[in-house]
Amino acid sequence: RGMQVINTVFGGSLYQDINVQYADKKPMCHSQNEERSVTTQTASVVTDSLLYSIVNCNTLPINSIHHQAVKRIADGFRAVAFADDGICEAIESLYYPILGVQWHPEHLSEADAAGEHFDNPHRKIFGWLVDEAKIFSRAKRIHHSSYVIDSHCDTPMFFHYPQVNIVENDKLWVDPADFGEKDEPPLLYEIKVDARKMRQGRVDAVFMVAYIPQSTPADETYGKADRLLNTIITQAKGSGNRISIATSYAELCNNKRNGIPTVFLGIENGCALAGNLDNIDYFYRLGVRYITLCHNGDNLLCDSAMQSLDTHNGLSEFGRQVVLKMNAVGMMVDVSHVGEKSFWDTVALSTKPIIASHSCCKALRNHPRNLTDEQIRAIARSGGVVQICLYKHFLADTDVATVADAVRHIKHVVELVGVDYVGIGSDFDGGGEIAGATSENQLINITKALIKEGFD
Ligand SMILES: [Zn+2]
Repeated sequence: RGMQVINTVFGGSLYQDINVQYADKKPMCHSQNEERSVTTQTASVVTDSLLYSIVNCNTLPINSIHHQAVKRIADGFRAVAFADDGICEAIESLYYPILGVQWHPEHLSEADAAGEHFDNPHRKIFGWLVDEAKIFSRAKRIHHSSYVIDSHCDTPMFFHYPQVNIVENDKLWVDPADFGEKDEPPLLYEIKVDARKMRQGRVDAVFMVAYIPQSTPADETYGKADRLLNTIITQAKGSGNRISIATSYAELCNNKRNGIPTVFLGIENGCALAGNLDNIDYFYRLGVRYITLCHNGDNLLCDSAMQSLDTHNGLSEFGRQVVLKMNAVGMMVDVSHVGEKSFWDTVALSTKPIIASHSCCKALRNHPRNLTDEQIRAIARSGGVVQICLYKHFLADTDVATVADAVRHIKHVVELVGVDYVGIGSDFDGGGEIAGATSENQLINITKALIKEGFD
């Protein structure tokens, strides 16, 4: 009953007894008296399915030993095989390598008389399972031997809920106003980034940012950033080494050696400097290693890619001083969110590599927050990186963005400038979430998808 359990766990429903609840559709006998190695029915396989790609046939002789059946298919799944009476015989996930079959392929997978079994479709199902496990194993080895860093998450946005922390979270009821939706009932939300999820996703480090909305009163921006950053620091110190702050490559290496997930600190929106260059020194000493020059809307530093009034025609005089000072102290300049003129002003001015901590490719999705090919080339020329964002509206113009969309954007950067200049900035807890990689523990699914694309 594995397929039925999968369907139920993911929210679908079952016929508890086919002969009673499916009686009006005149069900066939689904509890065969014959031996299990005997086929008594035929499953029709949906041709554009994963199952079809495995068994490679439209009609598959099957055995049948069950009295329950899948009724309503769980969200995110589809039915991909049917018996002659319409009973669902196989389901598969739209986004994950999950396949359930109602019959018992383990009794139909014997090698034939000649000892051959390569063409046995039932056996191929197990072959697929083994191949998937090998890919997962390869992905885990890659993560083990690399430093896996997610360059942008907004988890501190939820610090106003006292139970939210960077170590381990239960689901909590949140106000949809946190996501900009007013007058909606409370929402059950699962924090997407914490030490536990990082371990599960084999992610070594995340940049957690103090995000300062552009609407924050000018005399509160610095204090808010300071408070959020100190909350991260306090929680890390109190975590009993379950998570640790790092401010350098050496500290990241040390944490990885000791099996401790790492938090790097960042600031999203240079308005946190409150117009004072000395605050760059202060935040650097606190551990901050990048500042996103602006958010949505122009600030004291520069014009934004969104909601811009062309206040400065690019980078302001203060913004120029900020970039030079960040270069001088060794803080990364993050050009995600900046308008195009601000971007080119920054490229011309910065003497150090610049990064886009969470941005995608405009050539694939025409969104003002995305980067043109010329911008991507300029970031690469500076020695910086383009970190693909898992925010669905940057990735695709469909309702659901998937791991495949993220992979498309990653491949685009690779083809333009090479693999050294691309990464991932998930934007988890700040709107980032795609089907197949909904939170930090699923980030490794992107690695698996890249392996399938031939990356190694
Ligand atoms: Zn952002």
